[in-house]
Amino acid sequence: MNLNELYSQVIKDHNLSHHNKHPLEGANVAVPGRNPSCGDEIELFLQIEDGVIEDASYTGIGCAISQASVSIMIDLLRGKTPAEAKELFRLFLAMIRKEPLTSEEMTRLNDAAALMGVSNMPARVKCATMPWHTLEAALDAASGSTT
Ligand code: ZN
Repeated sequence: MNLNELYSQVIKDHNLSHHNKHPLEGANVAVPGRNPSCGDEIELFLQIEDGVIEDASYTGIGCAISQASVSIMIDLLRGKTPAEAKELFRLFLAMIRKEPLTSEEMTRLNDAAALMGVSNMPARVKCATMPWHTLEAALDAASGSTT
């Protein structure tokens, strides 16, 4: 299996598993995200307790890239602080913009590194980044409601 096949397998797995695709009962933040150019529409749920993202989930529809991106992102978020989540967002955007990342930074992106190929598909970039922009809005909403 070459690297591209491995990456498309990760994307396929996240599309099929749906393990993050459900409303979240304990959520204290729910924020919609849209990418009209493709028709991707999600709602992102976060449960933030004592400054840690305890759980997250999403509902919605969209293309394989957007659905995989949001599911992979949610796997990365659990147990992170909002500051750590924003740092992952920064790294993810840097990867999509083809900025050089260290191997340590790529390791932190984990499965999200599977979306690196999207950087060569300008029309799909928003599909991959929309969930992360939604996350940023959700974190901002969360910090606004607790201060
Ligand atoms: Zn899309």
